[in-house]
Order: sequence, then structure tokens, then C-alpha cells
Amino acid sequence: MKESSPHNNPVESIVDIFGRPLGSLRLSVTDRCNLRCNYCMPEPEYVWLPREDILSFEEMATLAGYFADLGVDKVRLTGGEPLLRRDLARLVRLLRQDRRITEVALTTNGVLLADYAQELYEAGLDRVTVSLDTLRPERFRQLTGRDEFSRVLAGIESVGRTGFGNLKLDTVAIRGFNDDELGPLVEFAKQYQAEVRFIEYMDVGGANEWSLLKVLSQDMILDLLGQRYGQIIPVPERGTAPAQRFRLPDGTIFGIIPSTTMPFCAYCDRSRVTADGLWYLCLYAASGVDLRKPLRLGTDSDEMRELIRSVWVARRDRGAEERKALEQVGLRSGGLIDIDRLRQDPHLEMHSRGG
Ligand code: SAM
Ligand code: SF4
Ligand code: SF4
Repeated sequence: MKESSPHNNPVESIVDIFGRPLGSLRLSVTDRCNLRCNYCMPEPEYVWLPREDILSFEEMATLAGYFADLGVDKVRLTGGEPLLRRDLARLVRLLRQDRRITEVALTTNGVLLADYAQELYEAGLDRVTVSLDTLRPERFRQLTGRDEFSRVLAGIESVGRTGFGNLKLDTVAIRGFNDDELGPLVEFAKQYQAEVRFIEYMDVGGANEWSLLKVLSQDMILDLLGQRYGQIIPVPERGTAPAQRFRLPDGTIFGIIPSTTMPFCAYCDRSRVTADGLWYLCLYAASGVDLRKPLRLGTDSDEMRELIRSVWVARRDRGAEERKALEQVGLRSGGLIDIDRLRQDPHLEMHSRGG
């Protein structure tokens, strides 16, 4: 399918082996982080991506343009902590010049958000998602290793002041850790006209403290919230968005992303580019496609597009479903990748791929 575009090339939509379009791109702008959430970065030391390999904003925008040529219309900036990357608003402005990209969003831990919300808004950022797993400062410190809870709150408050709509709060729901805070988090979100989304704890790279016992499943989440609120009704919709949405009796909407117990690979249109330009077709993929090298060698745009196209049309990744299948035969005991392999290849880490 071809249609004319106000920017550069016409858009050509491509699909993978299972008919899934190339739809949304998560651009990790840095692998560094100012928190150490124990479901993501539990180790005391990390091997960082070499600085000289990190893509410039111009390189990222050029890559995003090739993806837009092939159907990507949503870009999410992530990391590591994306707000650690200096002058992120400049990247937002570069991406915004491409009218085929209809949405530029940000996922952040919120620590630096109050400092940058206004300029990001003015640069054209459409949406912000803040990760928030607890409302208790001491628990926050225990989870993240840092005493930054009040700055995260200030960040969330600043989003409303700057005019962003559609604030989402993403909570990794962990059994035995924050299962007593589901209701309070729903109430907190209401105060900020935000929507909370509970994410099932995933056994992705870096999550080497993961165990099935710590997963608070969608069923358990619904059960706990049902005990507090009464009848919960699913909101029927099924696009490519991973969250299933639900309505409480008072009309409040919240979401659940049941990546572990009910994977949504069949609808997955997402892929990820790391800060050094490796393209991963799945959160669980063991290897990525190096886009930095051809980009820096000056490969022409037709060839770059052809590379991306040929990889996507052959895509057959269904990582979370495969992990689930292992569980059914009793082979899903710990994290996905052992610590020695993670140390050898930082790209395997969740904080490099951007979640
Ligand atoms: N640092 C930013 C943040 O925390 O929002 C952006 C990057 S972080 C890797 C993106 C998302 O991945 C966060 O919402 C985080 O909670 C989620 N995440 C990280 N490890 C996870 C895991 N093991 N299971 C589920 N979600 C995870
Ligand atoms: Fe936590 Fe995000 Fe940093 Fe991972 S990248 S440690 S989820 S703040
Ligand atoms: Fe997509 Fe892979 Fe996640 Fe499945 S596991 S939803 S294919 S990124």
C-alpha cells in the first residue's frame, strides 16, 4: 500500500511473516540510568556501551526516517533514563519535522522530568509515561537504590502544569512487593487525570532476580482490585497496544499489560533501536541488526530501507509466547540470561533495549 506523504518519501507499509506491521519504534537514547530498579538493573556494576558508538540525534532522526518510510508512525524515546541525554528536546524537534511520525512519546522514571517537561512540551513531545512502582518513599529507595521519590512526584506534577494530556503511570506489579499498593496507585493516578497501567514482571535480560513466584498476574491484579472496588468491566478494544483496559464502577479506567501470563506477540508491531544503533525485533531477541555501521559508512537511503525491509518481512519473533511455552513444561525458573552473558553483551540488558 502506498500513500503520499507530506515529508520526504511515500509511506510503504510492510508486514512480517505473521502479518504484523512495522508500526512503533522505541528509540533508546542512552543505556545510562540514575536509578537501579532491582527488576531491571540489580547489579552493582555495569558495562556501558562505548561512548563513540552512541548515535547522535541526527543519526537517530535519520534512522527514524527510514523506519517511517516503511510504516512507523509512532516513536517512543526511552533508555536507560532518556532524560539523562542532554538536550533531548532537540531530538524531539528533529523527529517532529517528519510529519509521517504522528506521535513522539517518552518513557521516563520521572526523576528529571520537572526540569525538562516544559521544553519537551514546547519541542512537540506528545505524551509522557512515568514509571512509578510505589507511593512509599522508603519502598522506592529499597526498589531503586536511590532516594529520589520526591523528585519523581515533582516530575509527575509538572506534567499537568505543562499541558500534556494522556499521562500514563506504568507500574511493574510484583508479588510480595507492591501488591498492597494497587488501589492507592489507582487513586493517585486519578488525582493527576492519569491512567495507571500495571505491567506483569517480565523475565527479560537484566531481570536476573525474576521468578515466576514474583509475578503478579493479570488475574491476581483484577482480583485484588475487585476486592476493593467491586465489579471491574473490560473495555473492549484490541489494536496493537499491549495494555488491556478495564473500567471500575466509578468509571475510572486502568490498564494491565499481561506480558508474562498472556503475551500479546500476535499483535506486536514494535521494535527497538539501542542508543548505539542495534535494531532488535523483540524484547527477548538474543541478537540485533547493526544499523550504525551501514549508516556511518554512508550507505544510501535505498539500501538502508531495503535492509530494514528485508529484516522485518522475515521477522518471526514471539519471545514472550516462547517463554510462556517453556513455563508449561516446567523450564521457566529464573531470568532469561545469566549474569556472565549479560556482562559480555550489554545489549542484552533491558536498560539498553528500553523496555
Ligand atoms: N528508565 C525509564 C523508565 O524506567 O521509565 C525508561 C526505560 S525502562 C527500561 C522502561 C520500562 O521498562 C519501565 O516502565 C520499567 O518499569 C520497565 N521494566 C524494566 N524491567 C522490567 C521487568 N523486568 N519487567 C517488566 N517491566 C520492566
Ligand atoms: Fe529503573 Fe528505568 Fe532505570 Fe531500568 S532503566 S533501572 S526501569 S529507571
Ligand atoms: Fe513483541 Fe517480542 Fe514482546 Fe512478543 S515478546 S510482544 S514479539 S517484543
